[in-house]
Amino acid sequence: MKTTIKASNSEDSVAYETSEDIEVPDRLVDQIIGQEEAVETIKKAARQRRNVLLIGEPGVGKSMLAQSMAELLPPEELQDILVYPNLEDSNNPLIGALPAGEGKQIVMNHKAKSKGQEEKKNMFMILIIGLILVIGFMLQQYFVAIIAAGIVFLALNQMRPKTTVMVPKLLVNNENKKIAPFIDATGAHAGALLGDVRHDPYQSGGLGTPAHERVESGMIHRSHNGVLYIDEIGTMKMRTQQELLTAMQEGMYSITGQSETSSGAMVRSQAVPCDFVLVASGNIQVLEGMHIALRSRIRGYGYEVYMKDSMQDTPENRQKLAQFVAQEVKKDGRIPHFSKEAMDEIMLEAQRRAGKKDSLTLKLRDLGGLVRAAGDIAKGEAADYVTMDHVVKAKKLARTLEQQIADRYIVQKKKYRVFQSEGGQIGSVNGLAIIGDRSGILLPIAAEAAPAQSKQEGRIIATGKLGEIAKEAVQNVSALIKKHTGTDISNYDIHIQFLQAYEGVEGDSASVSVATAVVSALEEIPVDQSVALTGSLSIRGYVLPVGGVTGKIEAAAEAGIKKVLIPKSNMQDVMIESRYKDKIEIIPVETLSDVLKHALIGKGKKGLVDQMQKISEMVPRGIIPNPST
Ligand code: ADP
Repeated sequence: MKTTIKASNSEDSVAYETSEDIEVPDRLVDQIIGQEEAVETIKKAARQRRNVLLIGEPGVGKSMLAQSMAELLPPEELQDILVYPNLEDSNNPLIGALPAGEGKQIVMNHKAKSKGQEEKKNMFMILIIGLILVIGFMLQQYFVAIIAAGIVFLALNQMRPKTTVMVPKLLVNNENKKIAPFIDATGAHAGALLGDVRHDPYQSGGLGTPAHERVESGMIHRSHNGVLYIDEIGTMKMRTQQELLTAMQEGMYSITGQSETSSGAMVRSQAVPCDFVLVASGNIQVLEGMHIALRSRIRGYGYEVYMKDSMQDTPENRQKLAQFVAQEVKKDGRIPHFSKEAMDEIMLEAQRRAGKKDSLTLKLRDLGGLVRAAGDIAKGEAADYVTMDHVVKAKKLARTLEQQIADRYIVQKKKYRVFQSEGGQIGSVNGLAIIGDRSGILLPIAAEAAPAQSKQEGRIIATGKLGEIAKEAVQNVSALIKKHTGTDISNYDIHIQFLQAYEGVEGDSASVSVATAVVSALEEIPVDQSVALTGSLSIRGYVLPVGGVTGKIEAAAEAGIKKVLIPKSNMQDVMIESRYKDKIEIIPVETLSDVLKHALIGKGKKGLVDQMQKISEMVPRGIIPNPST
């Protein structure tokens, strides 16, 4: 029996055994999960025919929303659009709009009429030629008769095209359309978007295809009374955006040849209706490439929506995710349904991917990929249902490109001993970073301190993109170091190196690691190489939360690290896979002293940590005076 999912706050409300028991709503708008505000806006925008700008991460349902808007628009208003020849000025074809379904009829009627005319003309031609031949033969002027018949044949034939020219062309056909059109114009070039007139090499000789037949509708015309969707709108050429804006303002747009050197550019149709609703989308950077007037048009006559990328982990939202699994299975059509346990495993992954406390990811395109991968495995095994095991296997198999890079990177680094996972070493720290969305990676950092070469002041030498972060981290902690250890770093030149850092690494969470490496180098106290760390360091010595802790911890475990230090405030975000749980110890840290206590080893450690402890006890938490003042 199918169950409709109801909002409920109790865990017991889970009323399904498998995804088969969950009803998938018919309307696309009801299939959109977790974007309630965006859905409300789309509904409102559909009622008022307003434009919408959707900003958000990829795969959170932007194009789905746009498509669902088309379903909400009234289909009764749809029209067919015809282009007719203009007998007075053939380069200015005429346009006609009719209720949907009538266009084809008109074209057929014209064709029939033209065919009738043609037949009549053929008959007429046969008669004339026959007559000439008969008369000629009767007068025994065979040669003259044949020549005369040939000339008449050619002359009449020359006139023939003029009749066919009269048949109009169906430019936009909405026959039998039950819903308003949805046209995805993502990445379309000007011709495809705005319409075009084909080039005709014989045009000047009058032998070619008549101008009106060469007119091609654009996506803006085919989306008349429907939705025109453009993702990554900022990548569209400014000129094209400008033309798009004109089309939106006028609700009409003439079609002309887009290539200036083509004979099509001589042709310009009458204005063609294009009263579409624009749904534009992209990530936040897309706004930079967006035509200002176009943006302001949307803002003034429409809505802007910022899409969510995660939702609260509540029983109600888990039910919605279960509906999502059912939807994806149904949409795929080839994979088996999911058992309850398999769905639970998907929920767990949704939680992990959100990377935040009590949240479930809404990057559902990717999660859909996992659903399909698990389904494929189950299908390969001819299983009736997808089980938890299949999902676990799929997770290993369907690793993202970044995860695969991270895997290979670890193997390589291990092979060449770029980092160590045991023993102690001065100035070397196993930092952690993220590549791509959420793949953790080990980021070995090395620091060297040498007495300053310049008399006035020591330098901080760090190169590469991450170098800036390193310099900033050292500057931020210089006062702390002085306070904690009495060492003035301005007496030293400090070199910092990120060892074989991969290009795409995000390093802003490396400041705790950089500081640790520098303290170790300055004080000549070794760092425990079985420890890895992540965290952002405040100027007052507090360890602030960072992103991607789950991925980072898993990467550390993969690399054979035994202990990982993470900001205490990130503890609730830890959702590592169970296979890593026994491999690694997770230690929450709050201050730089905590970090050094766990990361340093050897003789000098105790003295340093004790000294630091003493200072932090003297200064009440949070009001350590700003060292620069
Ligand atoms: P975007 O346009 O934001 O990149 P799409 O709308 O193309 O994302 O989503 C791709 C697919 O991912 C959809 O076809 C659907 O299967 C799934 N999906 C994404 N977001 C949602 C959502 N909020 N609810 C349900 N399914 C979603």
